[in-house]
Amino acid sequence: MRRRWLFGDQLGPAFLDDPDQPVLMIEAHSVLRRRPFHRQKAHLVLSAMRHRAAELGDQVQYLVTDTYREGLDQVDEPLDVVQPTSWSALHLVDRLATERDLERLPARGYATSRAEFTRWADARGGKRLLMEDFYRDSRLRLDVLVDGGEPVEGRWNFDAENREPPPRTETLGLPEPSWPVEDEIDEQVRADLDRLEREGVRFVGEDGPRTFAATRAEALNALDDFVEHRLPTFGRYEDAILAGDRWMSHSMLSAPLNLGLIDPMEEVAAAVEAYRHGEAPIASVEGFVRQVIGWRDYIWHLYWYLGEDYRDRNELGAERDVPDWFVELDPSGTDAACLKWALTSVREVGWAHHIPRLMVLSNYALQRGWSPQQMTDWFHRSFVDGYDWVMVPNVVGMSQHADGGILATKPYAGGGNYVNKMTNLCGSCVFDPKVRLGPKACPFTVGYWMFLDRHRERFGRNHRMFRVVSALDRLSDLDQLVAENPDLR
Ligand SMILES: Cc1cc2nc3c(=O)[nH]c(=O)nc-3n(C[C@H](O)[C@H](O)[C@H](O)COP(=O)(O)OP(=O)(O)OC[C@H]3O[C@@H](n4cnc5c(N)ncnc54)[C@H](O)[C@@H]3O)c2cc1C
Ligand code: SF4
Repeated sequence: MRRRWLFGDQLGPAFLDDPDQPVLMIEAHSVLRRRPFHRQKAHLVLSAMRHRAAELGDQVQYLVTDTYREGLDQVDEPLDVVQPTSWSALHLVDRLATERDLERLPARGYATSRAEFTRWADARGGKRLLMEDFYRDSRLRLDVLVDGGEPVEGRWNFDAENREPPPRTETLGLPEPSWPVEDEIDEQVRADLDRLEREGVRFVGEDGPRTFAATRAEALNALDDFVEHRLPTFGRYEDAILAGDRWMSHSMLSAPLNLGLIDPMEEVAAAVEAYRHGEAPIASVEGFVRQVIGWRDYIWHLYWYLGEDYRDRNELGAERDVPDWFVELDPSGTDAACLKWALTSVREVGWAHHIPRLMVLSNYALQRGWSPQQMTDWFHRSFVDGYDWVMVPNVVGMSQHADGGILATKPYAGGGNYVNKMTNLCGSCVFDPKVRLGPKACPFTVGYWMFLDRHRERFGRNHRMFRVVSALDRLSDLDQLVAENPDLR
């Protein structure tokens, strides 16, 4: 049997063909020297790799080197490797396969195979690749929440029940998630990262107790904890932010999923079982299943399907640099309460749920015309669950509309009123979401109208944006707004 070369995001049992298969793992440090990653992200990945190596024992050859090549040069035997998760790693593997005995295997860790996705997309002529259609196709193909070819309880989609503003409470009142307990491997990782910092490697964000699962046992425990305590309320407040409740009903499973520690279909099976036993309502379970086999797989497949140069798209001509305070995760760089809150979450744990990512951090960048490529890089480095495949479509396509509307037919831009409706943050802010002019003007409200004004021609032609562009034309103080914000023109 060939030795399986495992990348650092291929750590679960599904990445081996046989539990006794010999394994090669390479901890390559040059990546940490190139760009500053969040300290907790570096910790999580190294901890997960070393925990996996400890589980594999003598079966694994574990090399700590500067580059992958340096590691591979130390190994003579024939290898095989599961398709890696970025274009650059794929090219490396393809090059290596011409130089040595290296067998390349199809990707694993997703609910839909690349061949199945390509069949689905090609059948549509590569056009109108809607997530909703892909998701329904997947539900049928994978037989998830389907009875006799029809969705259970008669609907494919419970989104309408899953968009509520936050309740008027400080938190959702759920038990604290069950966190992993650090061990001596984490201690060693922390000591190594301290040493790297002393040698000049730079990180961003705070260090802190490891929050996300780094082993399969921890990932399974996190899944059980989610299904028992948070799945029943998942969905309802999915689009809302509560200042006092960072985690709300979210699963925090993206990090272990993206490390390959757990399979998406395992998550789906656990959620569906809770539904079948009457422990979680359909709206919650369908909402979760939609994220895992719908959105996640859809994003993964678009990364490959849309091609390598998709990452460079910049249809809105957004060329401004991301400012240093944002890059450095420094909340003191802004007075906007919502932005401070989201940036603090990223700084403290390298994670924020979907809405702070999309409607606060990304929305602000979109309104200000920050470079989508710099934002992709920022998200990738600053989030514990960030990998190239997931960042490129989520940032370039979904959040920055830099693909001109392939992934989302209208840009995810929203003003202060939207933030005020979906969060409880505006009450504590020095700005007023309703105000456009003067010192109390909300930067999201100002940014929203200025964004529309900058792109009025393009969005005036978009049937989903036409109405808001007309509203812009009716603003009596537009001239003054533009005069007060020369930097947003
Ligand atoms: C700008 C931006 C950047 C993002 N970057 C990442 C990223 O680097 N890594 C990442 O895994 N997710 C990313 N997402 C998607 C989503 O925000 C996170 O998966 C989610 O917040 C992770 O927390 P959770 O596990 O508690 O998710 P839950 O709310 O519990 O959702 C369940 C699961 O659904 C999956 N999921 C849902 N939406 C997406 C999506 N759009 N893309 C991929 N997976 C999805 C995740 O695996 C997640 O664990 C990004 C979204 C945006 C708008
Ligand atoms: S008033 Fe504006 S800046 Fe302040 S929290 Fe609300 S949306 Fe954010």
